[in-house]
Amino acid sequence: MKLILLGAPGAGKGTLAEILSRMCNIPTISTGNILRAAMKNGTPVGLKAKEYVDSGKLVPDDVIIGIVRERLAEDDCKNGYILDGMPRTIPQAQALEDAGVNIDAALSLEISDEAIIERMTGRRVCKDCGTTYHIVNIPPKVEDKCDKCGGELIIRKDDMPETVKERLSVYHKETEPLKEFYAERGKLKTVESSSTVDEMTKSAVKALGL
Ligand code: AMP
Repeated sequence: MKLILLGAPGAGKGTLAEILSRMCNIPTISTGNILRAAMKNGTPVGLKAKEYVDSGKLVPDDVIIGIVRERLAEDDCKNGYILDGMPRTIPQAQALEDAGVNIDAALSLEISDEAIIERMTGRRVCKDCGTTYHIVNIPPKVEDKCDKCGGELIIRKDDMPETVKERLSVYHKETEPLKEFYAERGKLKTVESSSTVDEMTKSAVKALGL
């Protein structure tokens, strides 16, 4: 199974990716998590990405395409993978095709901008392992502590209200056209994301025929 998750920031791609990844026993490749790890470690990619990520803009296509090409060549991707947050532009989608990647489906999580803004204010991320929580919908067992590694839960800089608005506008302009790109190829499936995680998962499993 090679799956692409599309959807606005905060639509629930990361959460669904983690669930489907366990279910299908394939890795999730989250470009956002890879970039945040690179930024934390101060690598050349991280230094390049920081100003874009912190201001809610897209990191240049060539940086992303390089990261993903390298990651897909790793052993654990042999039986499939879930791409979470990539592609985000038509050139990125084109680059995947040019690299011979033949996906099974692009699943788009549909949700209104208003619901996103409400959700983002409650989002928390483990500063050590990147696992995502929500103070109401997916609370950690112990407040402000990661269930998996005990790391501190923080609010991402790019989840601040002004940055969220910028990211939504970038999403509509640059990423939403990908729905048409994959619909033309007969790969697009859509799922309502405004419901609970359980309902979203059920709809996704049905849409993907899992
Ligand atoms: P995410 O965690 O997927 O919401 O990504 C966080 C930020 O990382 C985005 O707002 C972008 O600045 C950057 N980013 C992640 N994936 C991509 C991508 N495929 N193309 C460009 N920028 C990306």
